[in-house]
Amino acid sequence: MAFLLIKNGQIVTDSDSFQGDILIDDGKIQAIGRELEKPDLKTQVLDASGLLIFPGGIDPHVHMELPVAGTVSSDDFESGTRAALAGGTTTIIDFVTPERGQPLLEALQGRKELAGKSVCDYGFHMSLTAWNETIRREMETCVREEGIPSFKVYLAYKETVGLEDRDLIAVMDTAARLGALVTAHCEHGDLVTYLSKKLLAAGRTEPRSHALSRPPEVEREAVVRALTFAKLTGAQLYIVHVSTKEAVREIARAQAKGRPVFAETCPHYLLLDAREYDRSPAAAAAYIMSPPLRPPEHKAALWDALKNGTLQTVGTDHCPFNLKGQKDRDLSDFTKIPNGVAGVENRLELLFTAGVLRKHISLRQFVRVTSANPAKIFGLFPRKGSVSVGADADLVLWNPAAQEIISAETQKQRCDTTIYEGFKIRGKPETVIAKGHIVFEKGEVTAERGAGRYLYRQKTNLLPSDLN
Ligand SMILES: [Zn+2]
Repeated sequence: MAFLLIKNGQIVTDSDSFQGDILIDDGKIQAIGRELEKPDLKTQVLDASGLLIFPGGIDPHVHMELPVAGTVSSDDFESGTRAALAGGTTTIIDFVTPERGQPLLEALQGRKELAGKSVCDYGFHMSLTAWNETIRREMETCVREEGIPSFKVYLAYKETVGLEDRDLIAVMDTAARLGALVTAHCEHGDLVTYLSKKLLAAGRTEPRSHALSRPPEVEREAVVRALTFAKLTGAQLYIVHVSTKEAVREIARAQAKGRPVFAETCPHYLLLDAREYDRSPAAAAAYIMSPPLRPPEHKAALWDALKNGTLQTVGTDHCPFNLKGQKDRDLSDFTKIPNGVAGVENRLELLFTAGVLRKHISLRQFVRVTSANPAKIFGLFPRKGSVSVGADADLVLWNPAAQEIISAETQKQRCDTTIYEGFKIRGKPETVIAKGHIVFEKGEVTAERGAGRYLYRQKTNLLPSDLN
């Protein structure tokens, strides 16, 4: 065993900020304190003077090598997790999405095989794309034996993965009995289908119509529906990628009544808006994701919700597609453009620059929404998401003065475009440590293919008020 000693960093957690040293051995944090001594002569010492130290980022919403509409998201588990580490994220939670009729556990096995090449630790949410008694029993196995206490449902995409209301109710009822969490993609699928057909019939086929086919009402309707079902079944609910002020208002109302309702937003809803769709069709296609980018006034509401705790997490919904050959395959019909954008590499630097430095959120809130809260909500805390003795030594040594301009040319994400092209960021990882090993330094990811481990997660029983 080789000790690693980090000296003189400013350690920031979800509840605290203090100057100190961290001693690491055997992949874990062994001691935290002032002026810790080297245990032996071989101990490697890192001087963190002038740097902030955060618990490694946890991105609770990514889609590596996801098959979508005849193509596959362009980051595989190796390239995507390399990009994650370069951005200070040391844990991802991806999804298992069974084909209808495929056993959940068989789909899980397939996903685990693909994820074996990950360079950072990973877990999965289990998507439920159909409903029957076998699936009910498999949900129980997921929770009890596979370390998967969170299930994903789609209120959109009914032709492929979405569920009808009666099945959503059955899923939530089962999750409530198991003490599991239901994560929900909230857009009303039938309304999206209706509006899409109407736009296409009117000749409005260009990419900008994507946003018109999924207006804010479509999200709000589905959020209210999911909140209602969760209330009446007793399920714990986590709403993914919240994009509108209307959705925020409904979620806040449910939380005020003491319900176990959590919600996430993504960097693109905080930082970009629907004006991006005014670009040429070939350029606008890069910004096609669901929900779509919103009119500018929604951004302030989302920042406020992050600050006041209505939104507990920022996930990226990382699901990149190349502009050439994927996004641009058929620009004559906006419904055929693969939905998704990259972000796993940029999440921390964007939130630090636009959130912390512009005083939308505090440093502790930054740690909460990027690491501690995902760990707590998804059953990884305090092993992940904390800087504490016994925790996995997943740490980001953050240089708050570093500056960079985001560009597709230089990103580690495997994609020929980035929706943050030209963004000036301030603050980025200097060194990243995962399970006690230096995995990123001097701009290079040094982790080895397959170094990531599958994470068994625990059931949780929290209220949003426990996270503030
Ligand atoms: Zn997603």
